[in-house]
Amino acid sequence: MVVMANKSSGSKSARSQMTNSATPAMRQYHEIRRQAQDAILFFRMGDFYEMFFEDALTASRALDLTLTSRQKDATGTAIPMCGIPYHAADAYIGRLIQKGYKVAVCDQVEDAKQAKGIVKREIVRVVTPSTYMHQAYLEEKEASYLMAVAPAKEAMGISLVDLSTGDFLTTELRGDILKQRFDEIVSTYRPRELLYPSGGSFNPEVLTIDGISKDELPRPTTRESWRFDKESGRELLLKHFGVLSLDGYGLEDQPLAIAAAGAALQYLKETQRSALPHISMIRYLEEADYLILDSITQKNLELTRSLTEGGREGSVIAVLDRTSTPMGARLLKNWLLRPLLDRNLIGERLDSVEELAFKTILRAKLRDTMSSLIDLERVLSRITLGEAGPRDFAGLGVCLTRVPTIRGHMSEFRATLLSNLHGRMDPLKDVLDQIEGTLVSEPPANLKDGGIIRLGVSTELDDLRKLRSSGKETLANIETRERQRTGISSLRVRFNRVFGYYIEVTKSKLSRVPDEYIRKQTLVGSERFITPELKEYEEKILNAEERILEIESTLFEQLNNRVIRQATRIRSTAEAISTLDVLSGLAETATQMNYTKPRVHENFELEFRDGRHPVIEAYSTEPFVPNDLSLDKEHFLVILTGPNMGGKSTYLRQTALIVLLAQMGSFVPASEAKVPIVDRIFTRVGASDNLFRGRSTFMVEMQETAHILNHATHKSLILLDEIGRGTSTYDGLSIAWAVAEHIASHSRLGSKTIFATHYHELTDLASEIQGVTNHHVSAREWHEDIVFLRKVVKGGSDRSYGIQVGRLAGLPKQLIKRAQTILSNLEGTVFDLEGRPRLSIIRGSNQKIGSRQLRLFGKSEDRIAAELRKLDLDNMSPLEALQALTELRKKLED
Ligand code: ADP
Ligand code: MG
Repeated sequence: MVVMANKSSGSKSARSQMTNSATPAMRQYHEIRRQAQDAILFFRMGDFYEMFFEDALTASRALDLTLTSRQKDATGTAIPMCGIPYHAADAYIGRLIQKGYKVAVCDQVEDAKQAKGIVKREIVRVVTPSTYMHQAYLEEKEASYLMAVAPAKEAMGISLVDLSTGDFLTTELRGDILKQRFDEIVSTYRPRELLYPSGGSFNPEVLTIDGISKDELPRPTTRESWRFDKESGRELLLKHFGVLSLDGYGLEDQPLAIAAAGAALQYLKETQRSALPHISMIRYLEEADYLILDSITQKNLELTRSLTEGGREGSVIAVLDRTSTPMGARLLKNWLLRPLLDRNLIGERLDSVEELAFKTILRAKLRDTMSSLIDLERVLSRITLGEAGPRDFAGLGVCLTRVPTIRGHMSEFRATLLSNLHGRMDPLKDVLDQIEGTLVSEPPANLKDGGIIRLGVSTELDDLRKLRSSGKETLANIETRERQRTGISSLRVRFNRVFGYYIEVTKSKLSRVPDEYIRKQTLVGSERFITPELKEYEEKILNAEERILEIESTLFEQLNNRVIRQATRIRSTAEAISTLDVLSGLAETATQMNYTKPRVHENFELEFRDGRHPVIEAYSTEPFVPNDLSLDKEHFLVILTGPNMGGKSTYLRQTALIVLLAQMGSFVPASEAKVPIVDRIFTRVGASDNLFRGRSTFMVEMQETAHILNHATHKSLILLDEIGRGTSTYDGLSIAWAVAEHIASHSRLGSKTIFATHYHELTDLASEIQGVTNHHVSAREWHEDIVFLRKVVKGGSDRSYGIQVGRLAGLPKQLIKRAQTILSNLEGTVFDLEGRPRLSIIRGSNQKIGSRQLRLFGKSEDRIAAELRKLDLDNMSPLEALQALTELRKKLED
């Protein structure tokens, strides 16, 4: 789209002022430009926002605008410029934000008519990636966090603020877990913007996080390092929250957390030019409060995005989410990514879900009421930022009328958490009265449209409105009277912006126009006249019109300010409603999807019967085959074998999800489940199976494995999917073996583990190591094909069925035959003299063959070696020795 900037007459004169750098206009521009810092400056001139110099170059490129540069500055150089119509600003800002820019919006803050000299202008807000609130950009089910970091030596303060809801968190990370926790936080909160001090050691340009693509990383913003000062951060927070100490928020001994939070808050105040009262509290983010899910695990389990589609569709959240409000949807996502560790808290959620699940009718009533609510959190934030329109208030009013209904239904519940929520829901009667007492019930969208204030609020307003409508009536009377008087039946009284009210008479009737009509304009078929009488009424009406708008604006602002004062109460009600929404949504999912209440405990055992994968079950057309699991101290490491496509990865993921859902307080897809509280869930998918990450290499796979072995504990759940496949068979097998052995025997570990592998050789581990047990996904050979039964059964499988799968996939028949030959050579352990498998020979031919085998799958040889060792050579005759030798050799050849 191309916009010709110089169409605006308003901006033309201003533009000519711009060209003399010494003019006040130019000085004003440069002063404001300086304040705009790293943002593109939208400089309001008449009906346009203009951009100059660098800004014009950048914006014209990014927005495809025509660049003009006719004007010269004092040195004779052309000033590049471009512009956009003010009413379309939001769309352009959106496009710039999406491209990673920030925009400083500078408006005229006084009436151009009343200005002496140049019009006063000010930056009214700076729009940045995390603060762009336009509804088209802000996904209603996604949060929009700003993340600020205060780096120090081997430590870092991290703060997160969602301007759209007022959520404000901060924390401090130290030591060698720093990078890992940092990644987890980015992965969990997905901030849109990252604020950090300039000139320091922290550089987001080199930031990489496993499982997150470069585009999804937050956009960097720098500010001077003094803004990350602890003392001034502390001062700012104390002042903002109106408290004397930060102890109440658990922050006093956390200088870096304070520094980061202070910098974040200051940045938002600076860009929003607002006091931000809806940010009414701050929480310290405790690491130990939540089950940790690293970014790769979040991705592997498809918690919020599907691996194949990349979107929400096909993810766990999509299956789980039956919330009725956008606030609830956002909170649900938070619960899913941050499951709890405290058994009581988990129990409280589960009990509430249970009660809601049973009380079907009440649940339906609650959900029905909630589904008519607006996004309270975001409306509240618009109100506090001064961006709310009359309909936002009307929406808030409607919401508040529903609160007593919700509370009424809730009083019938017993569960502790539900009673707490009931108590936390403030009906906010005073706020409702103010809104209802001020606004009409269905106000227009914009304040400027007028007619938003209810009758009876202001006598002056009511009188003016009466005058205005009687004025209109008078005009109609004048029209009728003049028609009669002149006999011109087509005579009309009309209005336009250029000369106000006028009388229009068609050309053919001109002879009848009375003398006192004053001619104003001649058109093709008619002429336009005014009369003194008309002008007098016009004056009255226009004045009334203007004054009405003025009064309405003032009253609206008063209402806005009154509501802002109750922001904290509104926020806590909104939070209580969101929580109720999540709980009743989970109850709805539990009943619809047939989930059960898990028994959550603090011991070791993990058991479920008829477990299902929630997503595959929901999306697949085939019936899902449920499976059981039982892990305890005697059997905590399962080697899961079976054919490719047999269902191994699915079983792994469903196990992780059942644990995770239980700890977030949800019912689980199983007929029965006993779930221990785990501290972390690790999932790793071997490099060759890892489809979603382009840079997947064996190195990455090994790094990830190292990470697990270094961080897992006795209370962790580890799911390894085809680890060791990214390298040659022997390498991979050896590593896989050693990894399993390490987990099973290391004193810190002994973690509950499922190790899916197509190396059926690993099944030997079970007989060698305490705690290891074999399971396999069953499959049947049917003629030469393979049928997946998808049932997980005890014991190991003795083959990988790779060739059968290849046949299913349509590999040529001859190829399949050849593969079978090679396989039988490998399985027959036919090696050349260097010990490499002889792939090409047909068994039975008399080429020279060496025989060597890896110990770990040399069962028969081990037996022979053992027999050899047992031979009592001292007491054997030569003949006996020879016989024994012959026998052993025979065994070997079998
Ligand atoms: P593997 O990891 O053994 O190669 P997957 O777990 O990837 O196999 O499963 C392959 C496909 O089989 C899955 O995409 C899913 O559609 C289906 N599947 C897996 N487990 C089950 C099950 N228990 N019931 C029904 N279908 C299943
Ligand atoms: Mg798999």
